[in-house]
Amino acid sequence: MPTPLDWITTELNNLKEAGLYNQIRTLESPQGAWLVVDGKRTLNFCSNNYLGLANHPRVVQAAKDAADKYGVGPGAVRTIAGTLGLHLELEKRLAAFKKVETAITFQSGFSANLATIPALVGKEDVIFSDRLNHASIIDGCRLAKSKIIPYEHCSPDSLKEVLDEHRGEYRRALVVTDGVFSMDGDVAPLDEIYQVTRDYDVILMVDDAHGEGVLGEGGRGIVDHFNLHGKVDVEVGTLSKAFGVVGGVVAGNPLVVEWLYQRGRPFLFSSAMTLPDVAACIESVNILEESTELVDRLWANAKYFKSEMKTLGFDTGVSTTPITPVMLGEAPLAQEFSRKLFEAGVFAMSIGFPTVPRGLARIRVMISAAHSNDDLDQALGIFKDVGKDLRVI
Ligand SMILES: *Cc1c(COP(=O)(O)O)cnc(C)c1O
Repeated sequence: MPTPLDWITTELNNLKEAGLYNQIRTLESPQGAWLVVDGKRTLNFCSNNYLGLANHPRVVQAAKDAADKYGVGPGAVRTIAGTLGLHLELEKRLAAFKKVETAITFQSGFSANLATIPALVGKEDVIFSDRLNHASIIDGCRLAKSKIIPYEHCSPDSLKEVLDEHRGEYRRALVVTDGVFSMDGDVAPLDEIYQVTRDYDVILMVDDAHGEGVLGEGGRGIVDHFNLHGKVDVEVGTLSKAFGVVGGVVAGNPLVVEWLYQRGRPFLFSSAMTLPDVAACIESVNILEESTELVDRLWANAKYFKSEMKTLGFDTGVSTTPITPVMLGEAPLAQEFSRKLFEAGVFAMSIGFPTVPRGLARIRVMISAAHSNDDLDQALGIFKDVGKDLRVI
């Protein structure tokens, strides 16, 4: 008997045949340089746990203490009975850390984008969006129902062209870009983008999910990296990557933050961050404010790993951040590479279409401050063996 869901079986089979079906592995250990995955101990090169904070003893303790003191769930959306002093403290601490006046938190970086973009622009407006922006930016733009005009990836010239041609046709305008592009590890030229936008009446927004805790002084993010405090209207960040917990943040202009308190739909209609999460995030801020040690270690690890991979003959793409793509071409090769790495004790994901364009499949290596020199050397040895085995190098 045919059913109305048969098409899903067909589509799933298509994905499997194209080597694009997500095989999800199960972790049985905390995040760290090493993981137990599907029962096997492996080196971890997959996580966004850039600074090793996801299982940091102080961060874990802060979450436990908060659970003892406040319980677990927030019990309501922020605007009804779900705002605790702890939420406000985190927002204050994040704003101070990022050297801006105000910040507002969300349940995730994804929901921060869904909240922010439709709150700032609507049907009569226009969004100029980098072609390679993250899915959550794209979805936020679609929700806003504005005209979406893409510009060429990381190209201020292309942005200027589309602004010249189209800005005048619409009421309000938003320019939005990822800070660090998560698949290639390149950084948006935010200083040049800012210079271009100055000549037009536009709101400037950056989503710095992969720059938070990574770029800038002691991990203060892309706005700090380019010294654009007060010039970028909206800086979205996540607390689930370098910060090691979960949650999203919008920092920047106080008017934007006040408006999101009133009109950010995921803020108004979805419950707040849990209290242990909030306390854990505050402790992550404490750790980052006390010392740049973890951020320095992250960059030193990334520099070492990348230069050794290049020496081995791998193509590590255009990354200027700790994200290290190992370019392989077709998705099935990338999947096989990932499988062989895993057999040899390295957990690193293959990434293919539609996350990256067809023909640009890769292994994405995520470097962390949690890796020791020994961990990196072991991984390099295994990459070398698999690379030779599959005739990539
Ligand atoms: C990871 C990521 C997000 C989503 O962040 P979460 O907090 O995990 O929801 C949003 N934007 C970009 C650019 C990201 O890389």
